[in-house]
Order: sequence, then structure tokens, then C-alpha cells
Amino acid sequence: MSVPIPSPTPSPCVFCQIARSSPPTATLLHSDEKVVAFEDINPSAFRHYLVIPVEHIPTVRDLTRRVEDYNLVTHMLSVGQTLLQRDAPESKLHRFGFHQPPLNSVNHLHLHCLALPFVPKWKQLKYMPLGPYAGFIEADKLLNRIKPA
Ligand SMILES: [Zn+2]
Ligand SMILES: [Zn+2]
Repeated sequence: MSVPIPSPTPSPCVFCQIARSSPPTATLLHSDEKVVAFEDINPSAFRHYLVIPVEHIPTVRDLTRRVEDYNLVTHMLSVGQTLLQRDAPESKLHRFGFHQPPLNSVNHLHLHCLALPFVPKWKQLKYMPLGPYAGFIEADKLLNRIKPA
């Protein structure tokens, strides 16, 4: 008689749960076959949304100069822009970008969509670029980096 060896359980990813469970584990502001959007649980700004791919992609380091990756980030950005234009038209500045590892929080790619001001103000420190490959990278800069040749 053989004893079944338990297969290692995949580590549960909170963002996969939000993107794929039905009913969703968060209030979705947007959902389509590629991405979902929801409010950041710990907002840093007047409005602070996250747009994530339904597919589990860990970080910006996993994006390459592929048309699929470029189109995905373009789509994430356009969803974020539409939501902030709808919900925070009075905000003077909308910012969109990603944390680069090791300073990312959750290992499931997520676009931060921020309608400023930062609340409280010190939270702006979390969204500063620390050179091109560290800290926070604006979405348009990332798109330049992964633009297919
Ligand atoms: Zn995930
Ligand atoms: Zn983040």
C-alpha cells in the first residue's frame, strides 16, 4: 500500500483570488477577460486603485519586449486612466506606475493608479523612482522599456 505524497500546495496569491474567484473577494471597479481593477486596501492618495492582470505575472521583471506584454500594460493603463477620469476628475494629477522588486508588496503584477494629493503626504515616498531599475517606475517609462522592437 502506498501512502499518497501530498503535493506542495501552491502559495495562495491574494490578487489571483481577487481576479479569479466568483463571487470576487473584493469590489471590482472593472473586469474583463484580461484585467480587473479594485480599490487599494491601504490607500495612499485621494483615489488609489490597482489594476491587475487576471493571469498571474509576478513582477515587472517578468515582462519582456513581447507584443502580448506591451498590449497588456497598455490596456492596464487605459483602464486605470478611464477609472480615475471618471472618479477623480477634480484631481490635478493622476499617476500610474509599478513598484520594482524588491520594493514591491504583492508578487502579482499591479498597476498603482493614484489621483493626488497623497494622503497622508509622506506616502509620496513610496512612489519615488530610485534610478531606472529600482523603486517606482511610471507606466509610460515601463512601456518604453518593453516596447517590441
Ligand atoms: Zn497571483
Ligand atoms: Zn504595489
